[in-house]
Amino acid sequence: MQEQKLDAMDKIISLAKRRGFIFPGSDIYGGLANAWDYGPLGVELKNNVKQRWWKTFVTRRADMVGLDAALLMNTKVWQASGHLKEFSDPLVECKACHARFRADQIDIKSPCPDCKKGELTAPKQFNLMLKTFLGPVESEDNVVYFRPETAQGIFVNFKNIADTMRMKLPFGIAQIGKAFRNEITPGNYIFRTREFEQMEIEYFIRPPKDEAEWQTAFEDWRLAILAWCSDLGLKTEEVHELEVAKDELAHYSKRTIDFEYDFPFGRKELFGLAYRTDFDLNNHSLNYTDDNGDKLVPHCIEPSLGVDRSILAALLSAYSEEEIKEGDIRTVLKLPKWLAPIKAGVFPLMKNKPELVAKAKEVFALLSADYTMQYDDNGNVGKRYRRQDEIGTPYCLTIDFDTLGDNTVTVRDRDTMEQQRVLIAELPNFLRTNIK
Ligand SMILES: [Zn+2]
Repeated sequence: MQEQKLDAMDKIISLAKRRGFIFPGSDIYGGLANAWDYGPLGVELKNNVKQRWWKTFVTRRADMVGLDAALLMNTKVWQASGHLKEFSDPLVECKACHARFRADQIDIKSPCPDCKKGELTAPKQFNLMLKTFLGPVESEDNVVYFRPETAQGIFVNFKNIADTMRMKLPFGIAQIGKAFRNEITPGNYIFRTREFEQMEIEYFIRPPKDEAEWQTAFEDWRLAILAWCSDLGLKTEEVHELEVAKDELAHYSKRTIDFEYDFPFGRKELFGLAYRTDFDLNNHSLNYTDDNGDKLVPHCIEPSLGVDRSILAALLSAYSEEEIKEGDIRTVLKLPKWLAPIKAGVFPLMKNKPELVAKAKEVFALLSADYTMQYDDNGNVGKRYRRQDEIGTPYCLTIDFDTLGDNTVTVRDRDTMEQQRVLIAELPNFLRTNIK
């Protein structure tokens, strides 16, 4: 079973490379460990995830606004937030082969898991923030850190946003952006990388009078995350909520749920939801003045989602192989239609017939104003269908000789493989109705 599941991972990695979704970073120079580049289809997929998230949680809500803060921040931010002191993992090193491990992930009394013989050092705390120097002088005074989370950019802008946008509690601030962590043991493809992209929300509420008050807001966000999982096409049975035990909660959290997904390499954290109380705004000495002129420190609920993990889980859930007839297997990415990198393929039946090519280009121009399309005139139509199935394209539009007479095209559905004729003039409406 385990072997079969890992095989599923290899299939995704191979498809993603072969079809231009995700390439190993710095590939022509032998790569860079755990760095990945999103190719032409990968960037479309990623943009779709980010736009959908933004639309769901910012555009469509009157109580939310967005932010795009700088990656590099004043070091005082990390002092105040506690990251300089606390944001570390326990590190052990093998005295023989010098392999490094996270002490909380292995049995440190046993010999080295790599070489099986070396003794391990005592654990020491290793700060996960990625360091660099600002300006030409490499001195301690010029040290800055790449943000290890987007959240602090939100907290330090709390006052700017509350004042300029005249926000009334409860309200939230959302941000999408890169974050960096110098992980001791990155791995599992795009699951844990040192550079990654987050979609974070800090949702501010009045200091609650009792537990019920914050639990209500927390519950709203719990349901919102579950709805997002379903939006990504994840199957309900693959997503699990882990209520973090009271004695294992981070010091700033009163309640945390880890949303876990059944990855081929095990059940691992996909998203997180935490009630961070007034910890962060207090750290930065920030407050809020309500309509009565009273100053108060809002509490905060944080739904934290990863772009890369959203993509990995969506790809794994969508991947399927179907035997059409004996020995003939088609690979289909059954992505939700809104998520598919290409919304429709446009095929002239034959590439050496100028009138078919002209009509196909007309269809491409009509639809590419609103949708990402792919023009393909290579090989027989059956093969073109399969190529689009493999990258999750919901529809294929074939322009044939009938098109020249009646201005209809054959629309072929990715999932049912059924075909129907649709008027060219009706195509924008057809896609708008069906791609959700
Ligand atoms: Zn070793």
